[in-house]
Amino acid sequence: RGGSAEPVIPFTQPGNLTRVYAVTSGKGGVGKSSVTASLAAAMAAQGLSVGVVDADIYGFSIPRMLGVNQVPTQLDGMLVPPVAHGVKVISIGMFVEERQPVVWRGPMLHRAVQQFLTDVFWGDLDVLLLDLPPGTGDVTISVAQLLPSAEVLVVTTPQTAAAEVAERTGLIATQTHQRVVGVIENMSWLSQPDGSRIEVFGSGGGQAVSESLSQALGYEVPLLAQLPLDVALREGSDSGVPAVIAQDGQPRDDAPAAAELVA
Ligand code: ADP
Repeated sequence: RGGSAEPVIPFTQPGNLTRVYAVTSGKGGVGKSSVTASLAAAMAAQGLSVGVVDADIYGFSIPRMLGVNQVPTQLDGMLVPPVAHGVKVISIGMFVEERQPVVWRGPMLHRAVQQFLTDVFWGDLDVLLLDLPPGTGDVTISVAQLLPSAEVLVVTTPQTAAAEVAERTGLIATQTHQRVVGVIENMSWLSQPDGSRIEVFGSGGGQAVSESLSQALGYEVPLLAQLPLDVALREGSDSGVPAVIAQDGQPRDDAPAAAELVA
């Protein structure tokens, strides 16, 4: 637009006050997207102006989790993102045929992420969350280049194998000089009716990632929260109403991760 060479990313402009968080994980299926959707909904319920970029291009799931069925509208050559639970959302899922796989190479992925940042009318956001694909692939590198000041949030399960790959993903930050704000351990336990807990995926993964990243990066990377396995959470992400928000749109008091981040 305007004939300029490089499109402008509002979040990197001087004076822009949006806090940008890239949510990452070592491998898929650990709840990275669920955490992103839940954080976004919880923050919006607390009155913040929140946007989500679904940068998990191949494995996009944010539209379903936030219950977004609409596509963006166009205004002055910009895309106006649909809003769900008070959250502005953009996803490749809004542009491809349903059930069609996205089979793109790196440059296409880079371009898509760039367009999500430059061609979408985000307005003044307090917080922008990016749901990254798992691992350290093309999109993760693109986001680090496009948004060097984005802070990184690492999601892992308690399992040793998941924690090891999560650590490697977090360590990308040493090369990109992005700040890692913390670790969220998901699927930490399953509560039994008698109050006891089953540690389905073992224990200690979140703490281990926190400790090794703190050591490698030279500053405290806290374990922000441990989220249990929860049928309501899974049902919420299938039905498009994140379990962290109650029916009346008010945050539940068991959204500790959101509270930590907002603070
Ligand atoms: P990722 O983004 O890491 O691939 P998802 O957020 O898509 O992972 O989660 C994988 C699956 O596990 C989804 O079906 C989701 O609903 C479910 N899930 C995630 N976290 C929990 C949890 N704490 N309790 C129950 N189900 C969960």
